[in-house]
Amino acid sequence: MELLVATRNAHKAREFRELLGDDFAVRDLSVFPEITLPEETGCTFAENARSKAIAISQDRQLFVLADDSGLEVDALGGAPGIFSARYAGEGATDKQNIEKLLRAMQRVGEHKRSQRSARFRCVLALVRAGKVLGVFSGIVEGMIVDVARGSAGFGYDPVFLPNGYDRTFGELPAYVKNKISHRARAVHALRAAVARGTFD
Ligand code: IMP
Repeated sequence: MELLVATRNAHKAREFRELLGDDFAVRDLSVFPEITLPEETGCTFAENARSKAIAISQDRQLFVLADDSGLEVDALGGAPGIFSARYAGEGATDKQNIEKLLRAMQRVGEHKRSQRSARFRCVLALVRAGKVLGVFSGIVEGMIVDVARGSAGFGYDPVFLPNGYDRTFGELPAYVKNKISHRARAVHALRAAVARGTFD
């Protein structure tokens, strides 16, 4: 199955290739420099994933897979959530976003700070010729650590400790993240639907 993954994030594209494996011929937007991603104006991950995939698949007889993902921190009322990529401002770097998150965690009260629970959430929309075939989601539960650890992965990986592990996503090898991550779980749901031939 030929699949265009609607992302310009090279880290995400690599993870999708690793997760989808040889059953899918995966391309990403690096081979379509003329395509512009629409602005993320939705209020949920699902809205953003659907609108990205629909916009890109119009007039193209290709399967398009768009992902919207982010980190939800309970002590911060679910922030940064859908604003994860631009938490520290438009065009913010991963380092700036992490610094803002750790500062925000220091500001919350002692009681809340002891609850460092958080999750990564990923929602995928599979679309062909403007029609949504399916929406799939995955989460991984964990905790936010005090100090960033490790340089693997991307985004908030160095501050996210998945439940049941003593290393952050920034410290764990990619093959471990790819077994348990939010993206891995969403891709698992997508693969199951493709295998069944039904997307509902
Ligand atoms: P999106 O491109 O709007 O989906 O932005 C997602 C943002 O959420 C990324 O830029 C990261 O900051 C964060 N994020 C999503 N998935 C991951 C992950 O697997 N690891 C670390 N950060 C992630």
